[in-house]
Amino acid sequence: MTEKNAKKVINFQSLTEKVGRFDISGSQAMFLIPEMNRIGGHLLAATFRGFGIRSRVIGTYKGLDLGKEHTSGKECYPCQITTGDILYFLKKEKERLGKDFLPQNYIYFMPEAGGPCRFGMYNKYQRIVLDSFPEFRHVKIGSLTTSDGYSLDGLINPERVSGLRKAGYLSIVVTDVLERLLWRIRPYEIKPGITDEFIEKSMHIMEACFERYGAQQRFDKIIDRLESLIEEGKSLIKPDLPRKPLIGIVGEIYLRHHVHANQDLIRLLEHYGAEVVNASLAEWVNYTSYDRLREAKTAFRFSLKQMHLNSLKAHLKDILKYGGDLLYQQQKQKQVYKRAEKLIDIQPDHKVGHLEEILKENDIYSFDAGTEACLSISGIIQYAREGFNGVVNVYPFTCMPSTITSAIIKPLMNELRIPYLDTPYDGSFQPGREAAIRTFMYQAIQHFNRNGGKPSH
Ligand code: SF4
Repeated sequence: MTEKNAKKVINFQSLTEKVGRFDISGSQAMFLIPEMNRIGGHLLAATFRGFGIRSRVIGTYKGLDLGKEHTSGKECYPCQITTGDILYFLKKEKERLGKDFLPQNYIYFMPEAGGPCRFGMYNKYQRIVLDSFPEFRHVKIGSLTTSDGYSLDGLINPERVSGLRKAGYLSIVVTDVLERLLWRIRPYEIKPGITDEFIEKSMHIMEACFERYGAQQRFDKIIDRLESLIEEGKSLIKPDLPRKPLIGIVGEIYLRHHVHANQDLIRLLEHYGAEVVNASLAEWVNYTSYDRLREAKTAFRFSLKQMHLNSLKAHLKDILKYGGDLLYQQQKQKQVYKRAEKLIDIQPDHKVGHLEEILKENDIYSFDAGTEACLSISGIIQYAREGFNGVVNVYPFTCMPSTITSAIIKPLMNELRIPYLDTPYDGSFQPGREAAIRTFMYQAIQHFNRNGGKPSH
């Protein structure tokens, strides 16, 4: 432990008073969103701004040294990255504003999961780190939790909560569609670099749309604009290029989406001849609603058996709440994909209920055990059924759910004779990484050729 870490003292009051859900409506405070997924962060910040909430994305990966300095090495890699990001941002902000820097004017957004892995502890740990800097003690940490399905209650006026949730969810689905568009076009682009430029421009256009129409709930305007971007994107595909082997990605959500942290894995796979599809952001959001609904149903059945009439009402309320959220989300997602798929053959998303069925059929894991392993294991099997030519599991070194995934899925993939690769990351550059990816792609191309060289798409 470094000398600085040794000096960190836990103030338990701070953990409850300065970490949680704070009312940000009409506040002068700036809501700081970490950049896990570049497009997703920007569209979410724009959505918040549309609701009158000052909000911005903080840059990422410039503060990694700071993150490493203020962690002990036992934390997950995303914790080191995000700790570095917020410290770097605040230090730069303080330099920029001098004596006008007011820490109470910032709320750093760091969600959490109810367990069982370490994600529930990131924001508490980061609270301790911020408290170790006298100048940052008054920066609050705004947190949403999977324990209540990322409820936004208490964040803004109650009558606007539902609207914010709907617009926020749409921003996630639009992010997924823009990314699927990127991965569909880039391996076949007419000119090197043109897809990246187009997607960057599209992100800014969609940001403006969310800021303008999100709070008014004029979602058709947003989807109309998305459609016109898809039309434009299609023209960037070289028409005579044959389709390439299709590679699916699963794993830990932060690493899958953070291109610096995963050393731009998708681009590297494309470089060696792949077309890639990453598991979506919406899948995780749907999973949290699905899992809360599942828990509420179990609790309801249990109370009924025990004749606990008082708790029955509360569980029924939860069933309606989470069931309603899930229904809305899945319908909205379906609507957006349907409109996108009319224009271009992007990969559809997995339905969480179907993923649970897959696990039950194979009896290899259970949603009762929870974590992203539920989605990764079933997602890999679904990719296999859809005819993907290979799957990559992307995760932070020592990540618990992804290690479980790897242990369970490897023998199955051997049996199915579908190439599979684990890619753990911890910030270091492993000398054999590129060779492993090339070998994996060689196997994927063989799988593709064995199946007649036909794309599964
Ligand atoms: S999912 Fe993995 S990386 Fe994330 S907190 Fe849990 S163990 Fe760490």
